[in-house]
Amino acid sequence: MLTDHFRPQSFNGIDDIVIIVGGGLAGLFCALKLAPRPVTILAAAPIGYGASSAWAQGGIAAAMSKGDTFEKHVADTVAAGAGIVDEKMTRMMVAEGPARIHDLLEFGVPFDRDLEGKLLLSREAAHSERRIVRVKGDMAGKSIMEALIAAVRNTPSIRVIEGYVVEELVREGRFISGVIARPDAGQSKSRVSFPARAVVLCSGGVGHLYAVTTNPWESCGQGVGMAARAGAIIADPEFVQFHPTAIDIGKDPAPLATEALRGDGATLINSEGRRFMLDIHPDGELAPRDIVSRGVFAEVQAGRGAFLDCTKAVGRHFPEMFPTVYASCMAAGIDPVRQPIPVTPAVHYHMGGVLTDGEGRTSIDGLWAAGEVTSTGVHGANRLASNSLLEAVVFAARIAENIKGSLPAPKLTAWGDNAGENDDPVTVEDSPPFKVLRQLMSDCVGVVRTRESLTRAIRGIAELERTNKRLRFANIATTAKLIAIAALQRTESRGGHFRADCPDERPEWRRRTYLTLAQAERLAAEVAESEPA
Ligand SMILES: Cc1cc2nc3c(=O)[nH]c(=O)nc-3n(C[C@H](O)[C@H](O)[C@H](O)COP(=O)(O)OP(=O)(O)OC[C@H]3O[C@@H](n4cnc5c(N)ncnc54)[C@H](O)[C@@H]3O)c2cc1C
Repeated sequence: MLTDHFRPQSFNGIDDIVIIVGGGLAGLFCALKLAPRPVTILAAAPIGYGASSAWAQGGIAAAMSKGDTFEKHVADTVAAGAGIVDEKMTRMMVAEGPARIHDLLEFGVPFDRDLEGKLLLSREAAHSERRIVRVKGDMAGKSIMEALIAAVRNTPSIRVIEGYVVEELVREGRFISGVIARPDAGQSKSRVSFPARAVVLCSGGVGHLYAVTTNPWESCGQGVGMAARAGAIIADPEFVQFHPTAIDIGKDPAPLATEALRGDGATLINSEGRRFMLDIHPDGELAPRDIVSRGVFAEVQAGRGAFLDCTKAVGRHFPEMFPTVYASCMAAGIDPVRQPIPVTPAVHYHMGGVLTDGEGRTSIDGLWAAGEVTSTGVHGANRLASNSLLEAVVFAARIAENIKGSLPAPKLTAWGDNAGENDDPVTVEDSPPFKVLRQLMSDCVGVVRTRESLTRAIRGIAELERTNKRLRFANIATTAKLIAIAALQRTESRGGHFRADCPDERPEWRRRTYLTLAQAERLAAEVAESEPA
């Protein structure tokens, strides 16, 4: 679907084309910060849909309350990240947080305020201060996206091309010189190439690589796969964050019971009514996400099930305090005012991604990246809640500044159909091999991993790659392979990566992972040649 803003003819003669891949928070914010410089957003789905940003329930973290400091926010982020957070990048992100919140206010985001009109700041797990700006309890993502979409639609320099699934980054020598996309939500028979001086990858996360996830299906790792296939360095791919309390009602994606419920005192119980988290961690339900996820996983695996009991802590205030969660529960016939909510861990966030520097530059000239597709280093091995929307806006703004000051100069080629060997438009994202891949990732590269399970995953991915040659599947399988290989290499447990066969942190692994596709292919070949584990 092309919007009114789409004017192909207006590209003629413009020699500084900037293309943004993705219309979530990172993509839209970058486009707005680039204005009045012309920019084109290519998004797989209409903006506002198919983006995790619109589903964010908690809010954005920023050290803005009395008594809070940048140092405290940095310290909490570093503590959550389990020893491998990049402190310099984190300091930069935290220091620029309040200014970006003010930008969002100017774009019209109706953040909650107190009676004096000051921003209302809430607290979330592992934050030592109240520093989460929210909108009407759990409506932050929806409200932020509504405000930014309105701003984008009112900015003449921004063209939005919706329903274009980018399949390939075009590389000429050391430059990315454009992208190739398939129209009609990826269903068209023909492909279109978009030359560009600068490409900003903002394509979101990897949740749909797994069978149970809170992410929209567009978050299936296309971006990391495309970037890796173009030669970009990928960092920390093994670190996948599971949300401990996705609502377990058989829906795909699984609706989320926000962490704020536990922040407000909701407890986790099993079918015997036992509050199991107290046996596992002194902070109980407010322990770090990976620990709560493993606690919930163990109860589910043991057949006792896990339930979030909000009946006392939230009770009759549920509908007005958490309208999104309330609606999801009621639609499944569960009244959270009176009944505990069945929950299960679900893939929620990818700490790893395309390696970027402080200006959002990747290891390839002409390619920048922002948002969940990146690994800036601020999340380390485990993201602190509500830091991801902050990361998206801070680095998107930095990219806009960087692009304004420095455009690479590859030669431009004309737009055109690019129907070629990859001319098969069949949707891969709901195809049988994709379903097999998702189950394989959940079974073998999930909450609990072992050498044996990871070896099985790598062999399984190789087999799926051998029999499925479509480009979009190749992108997805590439991301899965990078996650599995890095997880196999990391013979320890840290943050979102738990190895039952190496359950402790090891000092020699107190470092980030950097991986190219070529390295991953070599390691995958070694696994294929080795004896089955
Ligand atoms: C249910 C839920 C609740 C969350 N709550 C919070 C929270 O409270 N606070 C917080 O900080 N974080 C939260 N997160 C995480 C946060 O929402 C995401 O990390 C963040 O929104 C990512 O923004 P993004 O712009 O990078 O990606 P997205 O918002 O996912 O946008 C990605 C965009 O890229 C497009 N796209 C993908 N692939 C392609 C392709 N091949 N071609 C073209 N377009 C493509 C998509 O359609 C979409 O437009 C939550 C996540 C979920 C799923």
